[in-house]
Formats: sequence, structure tokens, C-alpha cells
Amino acid sequence: MGVTAIVGANWGDEGKGKMTDMLVQHADFVVRFQGGNNAGHTIINSYGKFALHLLPSGVFYPSVINVLGPGVAVNIRALLDEYEQLVGSGVPAPDVRVSSRAQVVMPYHLLMDVYEEERLGARQFGSTKTGIAPFYGDKYLKLGVQVSDLFDEARLYDRLCRALESKNVLFRHLYRMPTVEPESLMQELSNLGERLRPFVCDTTVLLHNALSQAKQVLLEGQLGALRDPDHGIYPYPTSSSPLAGFASVGAGVPPHKIDTVIAVVKAYSSCVGAGPFVTELQGSEAHELRSRGGDSGEYGATTGRPRRVGWFDAVATRYGCMVQGATEVALTLLDVLGYLDEIPVCTHYRIDRDVTQQFPVPSLLDTAQPVLEVLPGWKQDISRVREFSDLPKAAQRYVETVEQLVGVPIRWISVGSSRDAIIRR
Ligand code: GDP
Ligand code: MG
Repeated sequence: MGVTAIVGANWGDEGKGKMTDMLVQHADFVVRFQGGNNAGHTIINSYGKFALHLLPSGVFYPSVINVLGPGVAVNIRALLDEYEQLVGSGVPAPDVRVSSRAQVVMPYHLLMDVYEEERLGARQFGSTKTGIAPFYGDKYLKLGVQVSDLFDEARLYDRLCRALESKNVLFRHLYRMPTVEPESLMQELSNLGERLRPFVCDTTVLLHNALSQAKQVLLEGQLGALRDPDHGIYPYPTSSSPLAGFASVGAGVPPHKIDTVIAVVKAYSSCVGAGPFVTELQGSEAHELRSRGGDSGEYGATTGRPRRVGWFDAVATRYGCMVQGATEVALTLLDVLGYLDEIPVCTHYRIDRDVTQQFPVPSLLDTAQPVLEVLPGWKQDISRVREFSDLPKAAQRYVETVEQLVGVPIRWISVGSSRDAIIRR
């Protein structure tokens, strides 16, 4: 067995955290490979209910090594807070390693995120204001600060001077806000660096060595395929690639070692933040699905914002599974649909006079209308079912229809938020 990636096929919040927490039982390493603390994974287990933002989902298993790879946006304070909160809730101190090549989310990235959303006003992107877009902007402008830079005072000072030169022009003249001086950050960053130091190592070497000893590695994606900057709903993606293909880069593992890609697919749709969302519901239908969704309603794990909800979108999901390179699907939250007499699923999009199964380029998405097929509901609680054959016939048919539409085998069906609420197929 090589490496397994657990990734989202939709807009995020598909239940990846629950799936990872469940699959970790057989893993030695769980690796985050992109994003920062801008999204959340909800995990409900014997220790309680947790929303993890930066920590990998293996932190509840003492034998697992939890890695933040080079591709992750590390907000050190947020990471240390999350770690301390976890330990404070009675979870045994987890083994966490942070790549010395990962880059650091800076206080000025948070400021830029806030100022820019304010400036955009009604045109804002719905950023979580965790500094992720300015962070990745700096990374690719070559203005970032790597974790290892924190341990070299002269280099750190030089990196900050370069990063702040042009930002201060924006702060003063565009946003009309106070400037940030490199000197004012040095002490804070070197303190945070010292607190982080025990976790820091070359995680790429660590993982390569682990793989040569046939260790089990899980790569944990954040958000979902439709938030990918290249393949998603640009200009409303996240700022790093949530695709299994990028996991090789962001984690630092050989691409040919990733032999299983589990695309986590939601039995209905949800989407946080702005952007086209073809099957979106409004009014009382939306309200009911939102309040019955998730483990206690569809509200953001990071922001608490109400999530936009809609029917299952086979066009988007088939595409999401394709760009993820899914080898199998985990269909989650099926239990949520048990209140419906009939369940619409979107099989095609109508765009002008065309009816298509192909997910279009973003510029055409705004005009796309869902073509719905209505399936019978099962009108019962399925959260205690553990065998596919014990599901009501209508629920079996729903799963089989989704599988046919998406074109990837559904190997897992999640019927509740707890670890054991799973059907293996
Ligand atoms: P992630 O970002 O993909 O990890 O997903 P989130 O944790 O943000 O959102 C998924 C929500 O659904 C969480 O509240 C989970 O506890 C919950 N959840 C996951 N799987 C299931 C399931 O099969 N049924 C129900 N009812 N809730 C689930
Ligand atoms: Mg989430």
C-alpha cells in the first residue's frame, strides 16, 4: 500500500474530516498539503466535538505523526492555540511536525485581507480574513518567509523589509491605514519561532524515509475541487490547489506513490462564500436543508456563517471527481436527506439552448440552469444502518444513481457524523 489522498470533490465541507479521522486508524502519517486555517474539519469522537483548522485529522491517535507539509500556510499563533486547546480538552499531546520549508502567515497578511475586503465592499469575495490570499500572493511574488527563516535573524529582517516595502505604499495610500515596520515584528516572530521550533523538521525527508519503510500515509485535502485556482470556479477559488495531484507537491511525496484517491462527495450540495452555485436553493427549502444538514446545521466550521445549500449536482461532482483523479468515492451525509418525500438531483445543465453534462468554464456558469431528475425519498432515519443491503430501497437507488452519474465507484457511505456511522460497499 502506498499513499492515500482524501480530498473534496465539491466546494468543501464534504465531511473529509470525519472520513480522515475514521481512516487514520490504519495510518502512520496524516499530512496537510495546502491551505491554512481558513477552513475547518469537524470531528466528533470520544473526546468530544472539535473543529480542526490547521492540525491534521490524525491528532486524536497518539501513534500517528501529523505533518504540515511545505505547501501549507502556517499561522503559528493559530496552530499553537489549536494545539493547546486540544491538549486542554484531554486529548493526549499529538505528534505534530511542521515543514521547515512551509511559509508563515504574517500579521500583515491578515491586515491586507481585511483592508481589501473592506475596500471591495459589495464586490468582496467572502474571504475568511485569515490572510490566505495575500499569503499565497506573497509566496508566488517571492516575498514569503519560510519557517526556517525565523531562526536566522538577519535573513528574517531582510525578508520582512522586502515584503513590507510595497505593502506599506498600499497601506498608506490605498487603504489609508498605518504602515507596518519590519522592526516591530522581529521580537514577536522570533518568540513564535522559538515556540514552534520543537515541531519543525524537514518533513519531506521524514515522509520519503517513511515510505521506504512501507509506512501508511494519508494526505488530507482542504476545501474541494471546485475551489482549485486552475480547475475551479475562478475568480472564486481558494488560493492553493486542493487537488490530489498537488498533494504530491504540497506534502513532498513522489506522485507515483499516491495510488488511492478518495473523493469525498456530499449527498447534497453546500458552498461557503461567493461564486456560481447552479443548484442553490432559496427560501424555505434552503432553510430546511440547511438546518437539517451537517451534524447540527450547515454553518461554517471556521466562520459560523450559514452555508449556501442546494441539491446534489452531478455535473459539478463528476467534474470534481475527474480533476481529483478519484479512484473511489465516499458519499457523505446521506442520512440528512431522510426527511424528503422526493429528492431532486441535477443531472445536466441547460446553458442557453444547450443541455450538457460537461461542467463549463466559469464565464458560462452564471447562466447555467439545473436540469433536475426527481428520485423517491425514503422518509426514515438511516443513521444506524451499517450494511448497504439494509438501506431502504429508495436510498440504495439514490446511491446507485449518484454512482452512475459520477462514474466512480462509491465505496463508502456515511450516514452520521460519528466515526462508526459508515457503510463499506
Ligand atoms: P470537511 O471540511 O470536509 O471536513 O467538512 P466539515 O467538517 O466542515 O463539514 C461536514 C459536517 O458534516 C460536519 O459538521 C460533520 O460533523 C458532519 N458530517 C460528516 N459526515 C456526516 C454524515 O454522514 N452525516 C451527518 N449527518 N453529518 C456528517
Ligand atoms: Mg469544512
